[in-house]
Amino acid sequence: MPVATFHDLIVAAGGRPSGEVRPGDLIGKVRTDSRLVSPGDLFWALPGTAMNGHDFVGEAFRRGAACCVVEDDRAPFEGYPRIVVNDSLTALAKFAHAHRRACDAMVIAVTGSVGKTTTRNMLHSVLSARFSGSQSPANFNNHVGVPLSLLEISPQHEFAVIEMGASGVGEIADLARIAAPEAAIMTSVAPSHLEKFGSLDAIEQAKGELVEAIPHDGFVVLNGDDARVRSMSARANCRVILVGEGTHNDLRPERVHALNDLLLITVSGVEFQLPAIGRHHVLAALACIAVAREIGLSDAEIDRGLKQFQPVGGRSRKLDVGPWTIIDDTYNASPASMAAACESLRNWQTAGRKWLVLGDMLELGADSAAFHRQLGDLAARSQIDGVIATGEFAGDVISAARAAGMQGGQLAICRDLSTVLLHLDCWLAPGDVALVKGSRGMRMEQVIEQLKSRA
Ligand code: ATP
Ligand code: MG
Repeated sequence: MPVATFHDLIVAAGGRPSGEVRPGDLIGKVRTDSRLVSPGDLFWALPGTAMNGHDFVGEAFRRGAACCVVEDDRAPFEGYPRIVVNDSLTALAKFAHAHRRACDAMVIAVTGSVGKTTTRNMLHSVLSARFSGSQSPANFNNHVGVPLSLLEISPQHEFAVIEMGASGVGEIADLARIAAPEAAIMTSVAPSHLEKFGSLDAIEQAKGELVEAIPHDGFVVLNGDDARVRSMSARANCRVILVGEGTHNDLRPERVHALNDLLLITVSGVEFQLPAIGRHHVLAALACIAVAREIGLSDAEIDRGLKQFQPVGGRSRKLDVGPWTIIDDTYNASPASMAAACESLRNWQTAGRKWLVLGDMLELGADSAAFHRQLGDLAARSQIDGVIATGEFAGDVISAARAAGMQGGQLAICRDLSTVLLHLDCWLAPGDVALVKGSRGMRMEQVIEQLKSRA
């Protein structure tokens, strides 16, 4: 929560008070969604593409907003406390930047194609073993989410972990100017949001802007197992720490043991325990260990912090639903995270059978069908017993799985949610494990909600 006054806001954002603004008053919680406004909050009206926040200023005042930041000073809100700015998005960025500068917290930014939220959340758990800090809420990682995340920093916070996403070149550089991070983690360069970027080269170029932004007395932690990320070392002006399983890394595990929903990771003779599903979490853990050691945590504190890690909703979370084990990975999907999911299921120890329940991977552009065929092929090679797929590309997944040797009786193309549920009911036996995953737009969490409601 910002401990700033309206005067601070007016100075930082270059605004003009209108109506009854009391400059010395403290600002409450900053909201850009009028539905979330509570009495005393500040509503920041942003002109969006689908909706314009200025249409909701009335609702914000009805809900008790203490003030609204607006671009437009026209009626009908004369007399109500408003701060008028030229460009409300730029003003939000300026205010968030000034707030970040006014706080003492060390800002650590996390970007990459996959694993940002997972890594951000894990780093917050680890650093919380010693320090007090904040992290980006939900999936706030863009030109609105990053300023709002910075405004979550309180004066008593000693660190803030800020997630940064991008859908084009130049965006991360802008976000880094706003957040001014002292350190950064780069998770990977992989085909997600490929449709918007156009190529992996463009993704690499865009993500690497964060590495360039870290000042010479800071440090960056790079996934050294990813050649595109590793090559970003050349763009760094600061110290680089490579982490990963390859022998060339500065920090690498001597041993990794995956026991369903527990990972045992031995680094420099110390065993760390991470309650997480899937070997892909090793990289996030290594990055967190590197940052934590760098800023002075002991290995005992790091281990304690890792043990506190809890996956954010929809990201590799184990649920017991009726007689089945369900792995909820419904938050999102891309080729890299689907591959990680297949590997998790392949390594899962169970007396029952293993199922993949898949929705499409969206936003993959012209090569979408090919990516889905690769997924079907991978599923067949991952010792998975059956695949139930839905979506436009379900046929590509299933035909590739069949071509790679899976039996027809274990494969289903479903036209909708109820057909998915029907297949689960017919095919799954008590003790079976099913991993459910698809892109956000596929809303695969509905499958799990339905299963839970009946259990
Ligand atoms: P977004 O771009 O939507 O913000 P994100 O980068 O924050 O995504 P997460 O939300 O952490 O990524 O994870 C998205 C999916 O990728 C989840 O299914 C998660 O289990 C999986 N995942 C996380 N880390 C990795 C990794 N290193 N490799 C492959 N898959 C991963
Ligand atoms: Mg995220």
